[in-house]
Amino acid sequence: MAKVMAVNAGSSSLKFKLYEMPEEKVLCSGIAERIGHEDGIFGIKWAGQQDKKVVPILDHAEAVRLLVEALIEKGIIKSMDEISAVGHRIVQGGKYFSKSELFTKDTEDKIESLIPLAPLHNKAHLVGFRAFKKILPDVTSVAVFDTAFHQTMEPEDYVFPIPYEYTEKYDCRRYGAHGTSHKYLSEMGLKYLPGVEHPRIISCHIGSGASITAIKDGACVATSMGLTPLGGIMMGTRTGDLDPSVMNYLCKCTGKSVEEMYQIFNKESGLLGVSGVSNDSRDVSQAVKEGNPRAILTDKLFVRRIADFIGQYFVRLGGADLIIFSAGIGENAPEYRQKIIDEIAPALGVEIDEELNASLRGKEALLSTPNSKIKVALIPTDEEVMIARDTYAYYLKK
Ligand code: ADP
Repeated sequence: MAKVMAVNAGSSSLKFKLYEMPEEKVLCSGIAERIGHEDGIFGIKWAGQQDKKVVPILDHAEAVRLLVEALIEKGIIKSMDEISAVGHRIVQGGKYFSKSELFTKDTEDKIESLIPLAPLHNKAHLVGFRAFKKILPDVTSVAVFDTAFHQTMEPEDYVFPIPYEYTEKYDCRRYGAHGTSHKYLSEMGLKYLPGVEHPRIISCHIGSGASITAIKDGACVATSMGLTPLGGIMMGTRTGDLDPSVMNYLCKCTGKSVEEMYQIFNKESGLLGVSGVSNDSRDVSQAVKEGNPRAILTDKLFVRRIADFIGQYFVRLGGADLIIFSAGIGENAPEYRQKIIDEIAPALGVEIDEELNASLRGKEALLSTPNSKIKVALIPTDEEVMIARDTYAYYLKK
């Protein structure tokens, strides 16, 4: 038995979940938010209880100190020695990592060298790692990469049609993201495909950030996000794929710089940008019900872009055995699942139990009817448990 902490450090937040392994029992979870502020927020849930306080959290080290203090104070652990290993989510593993890796100096250096590919994320992950290292210097630390699962793509799936010297010299290519989630979903999805020799799965991780992945025999063959998580389908605030000349044209029209427009593509586009209502699908859905024309367009655009990718991946996989819906919208918004199915049904012969779908939120279920040509399932994702599993595996090897 071992206690393993799964950590997701962002630029101003640090999420954590402590597991008892190998049982995968969650001992506590929580988040330190507003790191860098006098009025930081530290919240923790354990054994059916929860606590939240506003305290100064000036840096990540302070967030980790608060976490350790809370673990002992709440009686979740008696001493720090009980924590056997810490797994850190790392968004960008570039070309270096096709699986999770023990944190060594080399791992750290490589993550650092990848900062230009994920400036906000990788930098914050390293800050988080170093903060834990200070307080738990001897613990097994593992890096779990969002990009690792996508490293099985073939060059024709990840190379961009740009001068090849740029691909080589700057490692400018598709890396994808949400790989830990897609891997989890594809493993969980297998239970719906007994006897299928070469399972073909299209997993739709549709949250605020969203991506779709084509998986064959348990390996990623194609994924919608690109060099960064800006690519692919339309998201809460991100554009997804665009004709690259949109950047050039809009910079000329508005007088904004490339950097400013890039921020707009990341933070002010997608559901928010088109609807003018919100980046949250719940607000957009409500506005649709009220007859707001831009919300109606947003809704249709969002659904169509997802359907287009499902169609593309159906071809890429030579058919499909299972479509999985997951993440914030995929798990909790039955109306979007229904609209996506309605959009792909005429071509792909997919059919779901509409009543069951309408009633389901956040709970795993097979949604398709026996008549459906492709099975459809709702599977809640769990990236943290994947981090804990990989981290525990390294702990056992040590
Ligand atoms: P991320 O991890 O990328 O931040 P999530 O997977 O948590 O995103 O998804 C968040 C989004 O999911 C919200 O912005 C909202 O659009 C949608 N969402 C969350 N809960 C619900 C719900 N109960 N009903 C409908 N949509 C929801």
